Amino acid sequence: MQIDTEQLRQLIQTVANQIITHADELTALDQAIGDGDHGLNMQRGFLAVIAELDKIAVLPLPQALQAIGTTLVMRVGGASGPLYGTLFMAAGKALPPQPTRQETITAFGAAVEAVKARGKSEAGQKTMLDVLVPVHAALTEGRSARSAAAGAATSTVPMKALRGRASFLGDRSIGHMDPGARSSQLIIESVLDVLEGRS
Ligand code: ADP
Ligand code: MG
Repeated sequence: MQIDTEQLRQLIQTVANQIITHADELTALDQAIGDGDHGLNMQRGFLAVIAELDKIAVLPLPQALQAIGTTLVMRVGGASGPLYGTLFMAAGKALPPQPTRQETITAFGAAVEAVKARGKSEAGQKTMLDVLVPVHAALTEGRSARSAAAGAATSTVPMKALRGRASFLGDRSIGHMDPGARSSQLIIESVLDVLEGRS
């Protein structure tokens, strides 16, 4: 995996566009089981990343991911800001500048572990981890990360939230997709779109 400045620009731009174009959907999901700010939070964060695109895309991949993480922590807010910030910062810390596929998967795994530590959470609690953990497992086992992400986001619908704001609803959180699971799916899909040459 050799990522040059142009590909990194495209990667960041594609992820950001995907989040920004789905902001209303993420907000609607968060209106159902939270406070309705997830779309706006994520849109604000990724608009801030886009504003710094020229600075970020010229950095080596590890530093670029850390810069994205720092921006997300500062600008997204809510519970998801520090968690997505941690995901990107930890991935950047764990990646060598020119990672192999295996090193990329290992770094993603370290980043998912960092989110668990930061959120005091794990898979099964109806959060973004219910997408991140199965996607890491799929990558490790050589299965499709794209279908793992889609299936995992859908699988949060019948779950009862045990972390985050949605957990205040108890059983009433059942029957809705978790907004953070959906935003994680969107991010993963757009990374795959770029790496697989679909975008
Ligand atoms: P807030 O809940 O503060 O309004 P957001 O609406 O931006 O923040 O983000 C909510 C999302 O954050 C949830 O859908 C869930 O996926 C994720 N989340 C919340 N708390 C945790 C946690 N402890 N661990 C992992 N993910 C979490
Ligand atoms: Mg919210």
